[in-house]
Amino acid sequence: MKGPQTLPHMNLRLTTAGGHLLLRPDFPTQGFSFAFTTRVQLRPQGPRFCDFGTNGKAAAMRNRKSLLAALSLAPDQFTVANQEHTAAVAVVDPLTAGSGGLNPDTRIARTDALCTSLPQVALGVMTADCVPILLADPRTRAVAAIHAGWRGSAAGIVANAVHAMTNHFGARPRDILAFLGPHIGPCCYEIGNDVAQKISDPGALTVSGKKFLLDLGAWNTSLLRETGVLKKNILKTHYCTACRTDLFHSYRADKKVRGSNVSLIWITD
Ligand SMILES: [Zn+2]
Repeated sequence: MKGPQTLPHMNLRLTTAGGHLLLRPDFPTQGFSFAFTTRVQLRPQGPRFCDFGTNGKAAAMRNRKSLLAALSLAPDQFTVANQEHTAAVAVVDPLTAGSGGLNPDTRIARTDALCTSLPQVALGVMTADCVPILLADPRTRAVAAIHAGWRGSAAGIVANAVHAMTNHFGARPRDILAFLGPHIGPCCYEIGNDVAQKISDPGALTVSGKKFLLDLGAWNTSLLRETGVLKKNILKTHYCTACRTDLFHSYRADKKVRGSNVSLIWITD
């Protein structure tokens, strides 16, 4: 059995805040907190699917505002990158905190990972199959949020984000905790030979006829391990976004109507 399959699943609890059905850690977190959204919002008139979208639609921005209020986070501090499948990381400082959170025009450009040590500044990753990876270093009180699809992972986004944590905040990889949120599972992620050749961990690939099935979570786990993050500190969810469209937006499974899940991490004090 390959390594990542023996990783413990994260203990998450489904909880509602402002009607939003969220996955929150069900274990103590020291100095930081995080949340993965589902697409479900419960309302008195009945549940509905809720988009936190990337394209600036007014409804998606309203949904973000209501989510941030429910988490007691300041909406003007919610920070989002433009997410272009790059390997670039931005350090969020007081000048850039709040960029892109409620205004897509101000998203941090040409960037796929954010890190900060500023308290109460929520870093967000928008996904609909890609892996949202949240990093936290309780020792130096630094956090990061990574958008990891195959392109960004192949380009080095995971190592770059860990290095940003070490270079800017003095974090040590062995102290870093990594949380892999809901993403497309190997059950549903068929890729061609062209993409398979870009995957650095053969253990993350399974042959399926003339195609391959890619375990993006397992591959990113290998990439985290290569940076020195400890296996015991890497936790993942068992949800596949494409299997569980009752709970998550999925780029592959939803086809026409595309929305985004959001993953957030912040320093609490
Ligand atoms: Zn699946």
